[in-house]
Amino acid sequence: MTSQKNKSSSTPQRPSQGKQDFRNKSRRNANERRPAKKPLPAFRPPSPACGRGAGGEGAPAILLKDGREKSLLRRHPWIFSGAVERVNGAPCSGDTLAVRDAAGNFLAWAAYNAASQITARVWSWSESETIDAAFFRRKIAAALNARDALLPSPAGGITSDLAAVLGQPSRMASSSIRGAGGEGMRLIHAESDGLPGLIVDRYGNTLVIQIGSAGAERWRDTIADTLQELCKPACIYERSDSDSRGLEGLELRNGVLRGTLPGNVEVIEHGLHFKVDVAAGQKTGFYLDQRDNRALTEKLAHGKDVLNCFCYTGGFSLYALRGGAKSVLSIDASGDALRIAAENLANNNLDASRAEWQEADVFQALRKLRDQGRSFDLIILDPPKFAPTAAFAEKAARGYKDINLLGFKLLRPGGLLFTYSCSGGISADLFQKIIAGAALDAGVDAQIIHHLHASADHPVLLSFPEGAYLKGLVLRVAG
Ligand code: SAH
Repeated sequence: MTSQKNKSSSTPQRPSQGKQDFRNKSRRNANERRPAKKPLPAFRPPSPACGRGAGGEGAPAILLKDGREKSLLRRHPWIFSGAVERVNGAPCSGDTLAVRDAAGNFLAWAAYNAASQITARVWSWSESETIDAAFFRRKIAAALNARDALLPSPAGGITSDLAAVLGQPSRMASSSIRGAGGEGMRLIHAESDGLPGLIVDRYGNTLVIQIGSAGAERWRDTIADTLQELCKPACIYERSDSDSRGLEGLELRNGVLRGTLPGNVEVIEHGLHFKVDVAAGQKTGFYLDQRDNRALTEKLAHGKDVLNCFCYTGGFSLYALRGGAKSVLSIDASGDALRIAAENLANNNLDASRAEWQEADVFQALRKLRDQGRSFDLIILDPPKFAPTAAFAEKAARGYKDINLLGFKLLRPGGLLFTYSCSGGISADLFQKIIAGAALDAGVDAQIIHHLHASADHPVLLSFPEGAYLKGLVLRVAG
């Protein structure tokens, strides 16, 4: 869930750099979610006519233009404004409306948003379904239950409430949450869990919720009550402060929604402890999507000189150090993130003498390293989102090519490049082409040895390919 990215405003992704120059010119902005934030568009309150029965005939409904029902028939959950013939009644943003084809046939129940280019997002494909508190309870319980299978081992009892909803025990919403434990997991992955615009991340006994659609906003209290009831966390914290909120006509929010925020929130990932700044960190505080990719880095890091670009709170760096890397140089523009990274290093009793942290713009730092004649055995490039939508793809492609070309040049023969894109606007195919171009210009031959993606708690609904936002390649350059 992210920036308006017009078309992909609730795709669960990383912070975007929007139309900015990718180079982080200003240190002043280094602690923000992106290097240089553009002002948000003004919050647009609902139209005064909303809800008063003005503005169209018939029961409130969205009627599509002839032929524009096709994507809904394929179960894609977004209705773009260009597909809408007319909206009957005078619904308010957040209202649930029937979506009908040009002949009046029912297609779906969807949440309306007058302010967004995505006019509506589908809650249900079934005409007989009622979108009410019980609906959200069922959906949330199903998402929690789906995460159970991902837990490595039985983690304790179950709340009888959830058992009643599921008709079977669930470990995800169990005492393991109440008992903190530190496990991290994305519990709800928006569209891919049938809950457009809703992200819920779990860090131990704290849940962080991010709402990016008018529909989820309307049901915010119900969602919070349900999460509280089923998960019994110490705190539900709301990080609804991404750009997309403004572009969806929603006010920005950042604060406690239920309970009390613990003094120190941390997540334990494959045995490593990471501090999570849920209030001021990026996104919901931590990048759970890279969990398994970080573990792969650990396996391949032994004895290597590693360069970790866009390191945030040191995720890949700590794994590389634990994997026996000879040295790890980590670069990020955010001083706050680097301070947490250094704390994380200390908290995990890893050898600090093998770690170096640099607060810098990666675009400039890579050039400097090249000019200094430095080289590495393993390089990680995990930048923020350069292209929220396809409209930004060309400019983003230049950014990806630039850092990857420099990355290839800094690699020793036989070296490994872990390179990622979390841009919704860059397909896996295009990303691979960009990397191929970078290798060509760098004058290296390289092989793909792994195709990577987000961890399993970030599932991708087959009918919603936008959910597959994180793409990664591991490349080995010729020896
Ligand atoms: N790899 C990280 C997540 C990276 S998120 C992990 O595993 O947790 C992207 C990071 O890029 C953020 O920490 C942000 O501060 C940083 N960033 C954004 N633009 C940058 C730039 N131009 N130079 C350096 N860091 C930048």
